[in-house]
Amino acid sequence: MQGCLEEAVKVLRKAGIVTPRLDAEVLLCHVLHVDRTQLLMRGHSLLTDRELRSFRQWVARRKLNEPVAYIVGEKEFWSLSFYVNRHVLIPRPETEILVEEVLRILPGIEHRPARIFEIGIGSGAISVALAASQENMQMVATDISSEAIAVARLNAAKAGVAERIQFFVGSLFADLPGVFDVIVSNPPYISDEEFLSLPDDVRKFEPSEALLGGSEGISLHREIINGGSQYLEAGGYLIMEIGAGQRRRLEGLLLQSGSYANISCRQDYAGFDRVILARRI
Ligand code: GLN
Repeated sequence: MQGCLEEAVKVLRKAGIVTPRLDAEVLLCHVLHVDRTQLLMRGHSLLTDRELRSFRQWVARRKLNEPVAYIVGEKEFWSLSFYVNRHVLIPRPETEILVEEVLRILPGIEHRPARIFEIGIGSGAISVALAASQENMQMVATDISSEAIAVARLNAAKAGVAERIQFFVGSLFADLPGVFDVIVSNPPYISDEEFLSLPDDVRKFEPSEALLGGSEGISLHREIINGGSQYLEAGGYLIMEIGAGQRRRLEGLLLQSGSYANISCRQDYAGFDRVILARRI
């Protein structure tokens, strides 16, 4: 086992993969159905031919920059395991800040259960994390991709929260009836120019429709800000993930719309503005 692990590390390093050892270990753990501690304890035990074949195939895919999460079909978010495939963006750790912010404002919402609407659910990371953390809420979620909705449904079922989320395939607000206390979204926010400089892992493998937000990267935010005012209860919150450097422009759009006040922003662990919040007047 040690030998083939070292061989994989070498192959990945040579291919320019930034974290060759970590990636090789994670791939091998999934082939053997063990965690990393168990993997290290196995030391020099041998792999079966089948295990070895699978491992080498996976290493070959990683060598071509396919993200580990797509190869193993799994990514951890909010301490839950999410199934992922190429129809959905791989959940990013910084998106947990979006979940934290929704959970932080929930106790102040008068309507019980709180009505939450997620636009662009993707793998379901945000809605499922919320539904798993807080029973007293009603979630509605949309995505323009029916394949993404299928993944999100599966993840909701996996986490045991399927009954707490209603799913709709459709663009943005999908003509939903009703009003909400919170609208939350991690819309695509990469500008056309930025897209070209993204690492191959992201640019070549993740769904571009979940990444590209128009020439400046904020087209979807703009539509959510404008459309959201009709769907938010007075005093309700709009909470969106944003790209580094988009804060000022989005604050401008929120103020210009005349429907929002109390605008604030939270930074991610790298110090970039990452989540913007505003309240419906
Ligand atoms: N944070 C993602 C990235 O860096 C982008 C997510 C998005 O566009 N919503 O690739």
